[in-house]
Amino acid sequence: MNRVISFFLLGVLSSAPLCAQKSFEFWPGTTYDPKVPTLRQVLGYDPGDRVTSHAGIVRYMEALAAAAPNRIKVFDYGETWEGRKLIYAAVASEANLRRLAAIKSDIEKLSDPRKTPEAEARRIMAGLPAVVWLSYGVHGNEISSPDAALLAAYHLLAAHNDKLADDILAKVVVLIDPTQNPDGRDRFVHYFDAARGLEPDSSPAAVEHQEPWPGGRTNHYLFDLNRDWIALTQPEIRNQVKVLREWYPLVYVDLHEMGADSTYFFSPEADPFNPHLTSGQRESLKLFGHNNAKWFDQYGFDYFTRENYDAFYPGYGASWPFYYGGIAMTYEQASVRGLVVRRSDETLLTFRDTVRHHFVASISTLETAAANREKLLNDFYRYRVTAIDEGSSEPVKEYILPRGRDAAATDKLAGILVEHGVEVKRATAPFHAEGREYAVGTYVVPMAQPSKRLIRTLLDPQVSMDDKFIAAEEARRKLKQRSEIYDVTAWSLPLLFNVELVAASAVSQGSFEAAKAARVVPGEMHGAPATVAYLVPWGSAAAGRLLTAALRQDLKVHSSDKPLEQVGVKFPSGTLVFKTAGNPADLADRLARLARETGANVFGTNSGWVDEGVNFGSRYVVPVRRPAIAMAWDTPTSSSSAGAARFVLERQYGYPVTPVRAAALNSAELARFQVLILPEGTGYAQSLGASGIQRLKEWVQSGGTIVALGSAVSFLADARLGLLEITQENALKESEEKKPPTSSSSAAGAGGGATAGGGGRGAAVAPGERVPGTSIATEADFEKVTRANTEPPDSAPGAILRARIRPDFWLTAGLGESVNVMVEGRAIYSPLKADQGINAAFFEAADKLVASGYLWSENRKQMPFKPLVVTNNFGRGMVIGFTVDPNFRAIQDGMNVLFLNAIFRGPAHTRASGFEER
Ligand SMILES: [Zn+2]
Repeated sequence: MNRVISFFLLGVLSSAPLCAQKSFEFWPGTTYDPKVPTLRQVLGYDPGDRVTSHAGIVRYMEALAAAAPNRIKVFDYGETWEGRKLIYAAVASEANLRRLAAIKSDIEKLSDPRKTPEAEARRIMAGLPAVVWLSYGVHGNEISSPDAALLAAYHLLAAHNDKLADDILAKVVVLIDPTQNPDGRDRFVHYFDAARGLEPDSSPAAVEHQEPWPGGRTNHYLFDLNRDWIALTQPEIRNQVKVLREWYPLVYVDLHEMGADSTYFFSPEADPFNPHLTSGQRESLKLFGHNNAKWFDQYGFDYFTRENYDAFYPGYGASWPFYYGGIAMTYEQASVRGLVVRRSDETLLTFRDTVRHHFVASISTLETAAANREKLLNDFYRYRVTAIDEGSSEPVKEYILPRGRDAAATDKLAGILVEHGVEVKRATAPFHAEGREYAVGTYVVPMAQPSKRLIRTLLDPQVSMDDKFIAAEEARRKLKQRSEIYDVTAWSLPLLFNVELVAASAVSQGSFEAAKAARVVPGEMHGAPATVAYLVPWGSAAAGRLLTAALRQDLKVHSSDKPLEQVGVKFPSGTLVFKTAGNPADLADRLARLARETGANVFGTNSGWVDEGVNFGSRYVVPVRRPAIAMAWDTPTSSSSAGAARFVLERQYGYPVTPVRAAALNSAELARFQVLILPEGTGYAQSLGASGIQRLKEWVQSGGTIVALGSAVSFLADARLGLLEITQENALKESEEKKPPTSSSSAAGAGGGATAGGGGRGAAVAPGERVPGTSIATEADFEKVTRANTEPPDSAPGAILRARIRPDFWLTAGLGESVNVMVEGRAIYSPLKADQGINAAFFEAADKLVASGYLWSENRKQMPFKPLVVTNNFGRGMVIGFTVDPNFRAIQDGMNVLFLNAIFRGPAHTRASGFEER
């Protein structure tokens, strides 16, 4: 668009009464240097009058850099899925900007006390500025912070003879990341601008305030980037971690928005705190809170602290920097989601106010950092000294990660740890530790290193909330009050990846090299060229990647339902068989290349006569065809479930899927697809309508494979669809806990089959009629009597549970005895009876159920032996349900093989494929 037209449009859209008051001051009393361009000069409007697009943000930062090149420098640090630039700006005094490289190198020295002893550290600290990273806009529809970022940069560069700004620039290197999630930001901005009318509308119901699915919060693959700091799955966070490790900012602030009716939140955070944070870090939070309070009081802004936003889950942006020794904080501003909104108390909140609050909090934070420069530097160095000390004196001296059944998952985990800045060693020769031999390639993570607390929090099988918090939480639950657990209570990566972790009490002796950051370690071809077939052992992420790549090349591949032994190797069930007959002549070369790229090992054989198990011509060796995969999209699907399923298939396994709006499933050419994924979601029946439901049923009947995730499983049981007879359970009642389960108590669906509880009102009572008198002797009885007749189970706060795998079954091929899965919410299903289908995976007995995290005692009693994965043939097709979403945040790689089995092996076991059920 040329300049004339663009200014014309801006004029139209910003002709709001709000913009009429020219005298508005963001930091009252400041005069600004006219040589530094204002937002109006570059983009045509004043701060807070429009929501700036990503392109506008980049343009303004570059304009500042062009005008004040001695005090601001803009860096690229990566690209989003949609190709938008990720940038950050360094704002500093001329002297500091000139020596950024030297500052970085000093910080690197300071970060490793093993190389930099105390005296040397003191010398370095004396000359170092405090580095502060201000991170804006991680949630794309939390719109005020990126505009506040532009204002903060302008203020620091342009404030004339301003003591505070000068002091900040003298003592602090300010790193400004104006928008961490450009794709989500622009999704919001485009929608908002398209929805606007003559003037900004304050009605919360106005379409400009009501984003359609999926909203602008998430990135392209609909990930909440503020949960991605554990497995670093998305480019926005993975790249941010890379730059943070160059700077180790002493202070990191992540600026968000919350509900319109709230005020402003800043540190200290609420309980519970992660136990791997230090008391010094918790104390320092108060310094920042107090100074913010000073300015907010002076300007008359409301705020709250120590409520709601906790510091337990380490996957937030405002968590990760804690674990290298920085101070990390969340700030939250009440959201306008537009330019003005009417709150429930009838007051108007303007976008400009919200921009101002985040701007003032940003400057106040920098003031605190400047005033505490020496303390913060010293704390950072101390943190890393004590981490090493603790790592060398605590009982666990190192974690060993042997490469087991899914060696590719272990490789990826080691790669992720290296990206986090953890020192990981890889064995170059076999070694012994505590009576066990470990193979070449085993990873070892020593604890005596500066990242010790990050290692513990990412790898420990259990990180516990403090007892006082748990007791208070149980008390709240009893009174049916809201839980104060903000996110999940478990995240241990080895558990989520379903790989072995060994805690060793001594440092292993052997021959090691530094592990690389690579997430895929190349696999090898053995026994090529072969005359009969090539085998790829199933059960690993690497074999999954090789399968999808081979299918996309139209290679002919079979998969064995039974284990087999050949060329001296034991192959698990699911093993891929590439027969030379029927495949291209260059099969060996292609597979060798795929082995390198995917990490899978390939074994050639010159005989179809296997040593043990089934031959390649057996009916148990089924053809796996290249499926066309459709996936329900848009409402009513949960965007995070839909996004994660698409991400796992497309980006972890390189296989395309076709998202189809759920409402269009009744018109889409379903017949062209072999697999349909229904992500989590309630309301499929309404979206599809009667004709859509009928069409779906016919499609499965004629041979389609339907895979439902999480809450979508309930839709399979919809009476009109009738694909699976599965029902959700109500909460356990105390009176029933002791009784053995009967068909009536276990089959009671949500909302139905209610039985009268402890003497309360069971049957309907006619008007005027009375019920028999009761005597309530104790408070416990009182609680029983007042309990609702039908209640869903209490919502699990997010714990990692163990599920047992049904052996010798096509859907569980390649798996061991158990998998771990993240369970949240209140959906517990009754197991299928033998004539209703097969429970392919089900939760472990109570004593083995919880692998990590916190689970209510009632859930512990009710979950055992309840199904995780169920399946049933329907007509010529296949129905598969995961009662828990297997792709949670794309961090439970341990569930990938089950998911791949459903999608790629499922169609091979439909009657449409010629397969006959046994
Ligand atoms: Zn947010």
